Amino acid sequence: MSNNQTKNTAHEKEPKLTIKEILQEHWFLTRLCFAAAPGGMAFHIFESVKLRISIFFEFIWIVNYALGIAERGGSWKQFCWCMVLFMAAVFVSTVSFAYYKQSLLPRVTPVLHQAFRMHIYERTKNLDLACYDDTEFYQKFILATEESDACIDRYLETIETYSSAVTEFMLALGFCLTVNPLILLVTTGSFLASFWIAGRENRLLVASRMERLPYEQKREYQNRVFYLSDYAKDLRLYPGMQEKCQQDFNQSQKEIRRIHRTYGKKLFICRSIRQAVGSVYLQRVLAWSLLLYQVLVLRTLSYTAMLSSLKAADYVYESAGSMITGFQTAAENAAYVKRIQSLTDMAPLVVSEKNLPASDHPASFDLQNVTFSYQPGQPVLKNISLHIGAKQKIALVGYNGSGKTTLVKLLLRLYDPDSGSICCNGTDIRDFAVKGYRHSIGSVFQDFKIYAASLKENVLLDISSHTKKESYDVEKALYDAHFTLQDNRLVYQIETPLTTEFEKDGVSLSGGEMQKVAIARTLYRRQNLIIMDEPSSALDPLAEYELNQELNEIAQDQTVVFISHRLSTTRDADCIYMMEQGQIIEAGTHEELLAADGKYAGMWKVQAGLYTD
Ligand code: ADP
Repeated sequence: MSNNQTKNTAHEKEPKLTIKEILQEHWFLTRLCFAAAPGGMAFHIFESVKLRISIFFEFIWIVNYALGIAERGGSWKQFCWCMVLFMAAVFVSTVSFAYYKQSLLPRVTPVLHQAFRMHIYERTKNLDLACYDDTEFYQKFILATEESDACIDRYLETIETYSSAVTEFMLALGFCLTVNPLILLVTTGSFLASFWIAGRENRLLVASRMERLPYEQKREYQNRVFYLSDYAKDLRLYPGMQEKCQQDFNQSQKEIRRIHRTYGKKLFICRSIRQAVGSVYLQRVLAWSLLLYQVLVLRTLSYTAMLSSLKAADYVYESAGSMITGFQTAAENAAYVKRIQSLTDMAPLVVSEKNLPASDHPASFDLQNVTFSYQPGQPVLKNISLHIGAKQKIALVGYNGSGKTTLVKLLLRLYDPDSGSICCNGTDIRDFAVKGYRHSIGSVFQDFKIYAASLKENVLLDISSHTKKESYDVEKALYDAHFTLQDNRLVYQIETPLTTEFEKDGVSLSGGEMQKVAIARTLYRRQNLIIMDEPSSALDPLAEYELNQELNEIAQDQTVVFISHRLSTTRDADCIYMMEQGQIIEAGTHEELLAADGKYAGMWKVQAGLYTD
């Protein structure tokens, strides 16, 4: 069952990553980034390596060489040549670094961001709608979209850190081994101490982030409520709600501060110990003591070798330190990538094995004992059996929450029933290819959305081809849906953008106008089945009546399933199904149901009374 399986997947415990898993996640990012921008990535590594080589030469090799010339009494000419070559190398290196930082990196980074976003999008776009019913899945999904850019940034940082650190480490280690291997004992001690403490720090950082996440998401939502125009009117009319949002916002902030405080103390202790033990006591005090002992007491080391081996040991320590902090970032990043991958690895469960093409005849439906629940053990539809004949006009009526919308979602195969079957023209709908089947049905839901695109695109819901013929059909569909194109706000007619947020000549439509656009979408497609869930709730009764007459005319050869609270709009249906608590309690024509004098008749009398009194 789709929703149950989603729950199992999404409620996994937070993964603790092994080194193998961290490497696997980075291998994935490496393949993704190198496939998206191979040249850019190669240059990124090259620059990181080159920078460390030039620093090593500048501060160790040259110092050692130049002082060595002085100690050995070498010539000025030798020294000058050395300096000229060094300056030329620095110049070339500086220019290429500037090109990399200012020109190449700003161009490559968005390409990599895009590649990861597309990966997430491609893998999640077909996930079951049931996934969205699961809070934990949804939180992961938000995290995936919000963190994807940061994952790439952290990956680039890790690559830079490791390319630099490994280069520096190898050069400095080689130098120490040839000049003064003993100093490495001191450095190794401090490295191991730091590594152990850094592991603990890393776990604290990830735990803190994960604990803050739900509060940060709440805060983000509350923030949106303050600035989005959708809420502006309500908030002005109901200041109490504004106050509640403010309180919730403050509460989220308080929780975030509390988490920062709790983890901040522990992180402070870890970091202090790491700095003091690793860096100050072990690295500095011990190193100086050893070197002075070698120079002054043992006399096995020259002053030049002392200075350069101290610097090289510093580099060994610093590069090892960079690898540790780099490892923290890498581990944190891998945890995020793994969470994102757990989404992208999910397979949709609403699939078809037979992939049959959708029928192009007017649709008839047979539902046999259909039971469905969003949450396990809480059925929303119970044993529904009904027949919808081809070209019939069917109405689903009933109070809120009785399961009408859920039933049509099952017809559309947005969900699969827990038990029972739905057949379309005699074939189980699970045997039709999912995309083609859904495409063969035209639907308008009460929570339809208008996109920041042109009026035409909002009807087409497709940008693959824009032909003249399509423009004509779009205008016709809008006309049939009673949308008035003779409106001087529509400067570019059907090409007018339906947003004022960032389009100067765009328009904001009223609720009723938007609903007509949504209806035009189904009229444009002329599918075999039309599903309309409260399609005209935003229209006034007269406009609604006229539109219904028009729809009956247009949809003569199509099967129509209609949901409406206003029974006056459904009274002409071939069959009306009255639903209550997930069951069909009455079925028949308007007249039959009135004669039965049941719940439908009661509902009708109340509504008729509203109009006649
Ligand atoms: P109607 O269309 O008759 O108003 P719905 O089919 O929308 O009823 O809802 C039927 C029941 O299913 C309601 O109790 C509603 O709260 C619940 N429900 C609807 N959608 C979801 C969902 N995505 N997740 C969990 N419960 C849902």
